[in-house]
Amino acid sequence: MRVGIGYDIHRLVPDRPLRLGGIEVPSPVGLLGHSDGDVLLHAICDALLGAAALGDIGEHFPDTDPAYKDADSAALLIVALGKVRTAGLRPVNLDANILAQRPRLAPHKAAIRARVAELLALAPDCVSIKARTHEGLDAVGRGEAIAAHAVVLLDQPPRAQGES
Ligand code: MG
Repeated sequence: MRVGIGYDIHRLVPDRPLRLGGIEVPSPVGLLGHSDGDVLLHAICDALLGAAALGDIGEHFPDTDPAYKDADSAALLIVALGKVRTAGLRPVNLDANILAQRPRLAPHKAAIRARVAELLALAPDCVSIKARTHEGLDAVGRGEAIAAHAVVLLDQPPRAQGES
């Protein structure tokens, strides 16, 4: 068993789609980023890579690389998951926090959970997505940014029969 932690924060700006956990959340403000700015999927990527000791998202998907301009973070997550599998590991469960003063995320948590479970090929009961405000404190609390934490557990899948 191996555990990994991930964290990310992105600035909220007007007139940009808000991508969060691989879905689009209706919002007048969206997350600024070289990619689609999906702060939750970035935190999950870092947790996956961290658990496998494979570095961080910035090493694998540099924000100076035009290939990742406006990239779909779900595609980046699938690549990171492939690297984890190549290392002989698979996700067991995920727990995540989204820190957002705005928009209100409670109505979207179930859809985010379903999408993240699908991306990680996990049963929904192995994926936990929690959301909270920042009580009006700091940049997140002023509604200037959204941050996310993720913790992932990996294990080694059992060898298939006949494999040496
Ligand atoms: Mg990021």
